[in-house]
Amino acid sequence: MEKYQRHGINPLLISIATGQDVEHVSSRPTIAMLPGKYPKLIYKHLKTVNGEFPETIFRLTCAQCGKGGDYDLGTLVVPATVGEDEKRIEKIQALGYFRCKHCNTAGEWILSSRMRTMLAGKMVAAAALNVKNKQSDEVIFGEALIDNDFAPRWGSDAESYFLQKLVETPDNAYFWNRLGNTYYRGKRPELAAVAHEQALVKDMGQVESHFSLGQILFDCGEFEKAAEHLRQAVAFSHQYEHLPAYNLRELIVGALTILFAIYNKSDRKIDMLPKPGELEIAHFTKSEIAATAKLDFDIDPNRRETFYPLAEVYLGSRRIGLPPEKRSLLVRNSKANWPVASKVNKQKPSKKNKSRKKR
Ligand SMILES: [Zn+2]
Repeated sequence: MEKYQRHGINPLLISIATGQDVEHVSSRPTIAMLPGKYPKLIYKHLKTVNGEFPETIFRLTCAQCGKGGDYDLGTLVVPATVGEDEKRIEKIQALGYFRCKHCNTAGEWILSSRMRTMLAGKMVAAAALNVKNKQSDEVIFGEALIDNDFAPRWGSDAESYFLQKLVETPDNAYFWNRLGNTYYRGKRPELAAVAHEQALVKDMGQVESHFSLGQILFDCGEFEKAAEHLRQAVAFSHQYEHLPAYNLRELIVGALTILFAIYNKSDRKIDMLPKPGELEIAHFTKSEIAATAKLDFDIDPNRRETFYPLAEVYLGSRRIGLPPEKRSLLVRNSKANWPVASKVNKQKPSKKNKSRKKR
């Protein structure tokens, strides 16, 4: 088949998600073949969902078929160490997820000397901004590692890492979640949905996947569905062990913030807080459920801190060990977790709001 394909999909993803032999999956799967409730819906809103990520188009040549094409590298992670440009370029990581438009392979790319020069230019420009204490939208300095060890060069290398883990343990909800995050930062939210939905099939208490699906569906304008997942993120948070308490609280505050927005946008028709039935599924006791009915908090959507007490109610025993408020996890020039800081950790009160506090 010689068809040009803009958004390539790995047949192995479909194979693992559906349990089919990879030989029985098309070598060039289409969006229609993706399993799950949401991928096709989300694909219609690709531009909106990807709105917050940079577009970094580069021309690359596929080492497999020798054909060139323009690809969106997304956010670039650039080594902070000073040294020869050539060596640093070899170490640049691209979070964008893309496959060859002609042969659907991924990961083996030839960079022309012109592209190398352009990359070097981007590094210099970002470094100049860094000196002025500003941050480039496209470039992050540091190194993005998986499991503190593996530095993927392309989004598709990170995908391979997690797919390999999932070949061995297809029921591991945590790996599905991490794969979903990789696709999301790779600007492929429809593939992220496949992975997050799988995570929830394996573990209905996968809080981070509930949150991510909720966030993506909110961006698609699917408020009812978004709220369902966000409320479950909140409800299951008290038994979620994959995040340190501080990060978990930030995530739940993020979920509550979106839920509050949905509540207002829907003229208060869509519930903000988990319903009794949802709490029961998340193993809340009858008396705990009764206690949440009496909750009364003063929430100001412009002041993030007003969401903390409410978040901590649902965190239950997980709020033990909360360290004092610290700065965003995205520390410059440091090793970060692939795929580098989620949106929720970066949220800061708006400037408008800061000035209001001073008054
Ligand atoms: Zn190719």
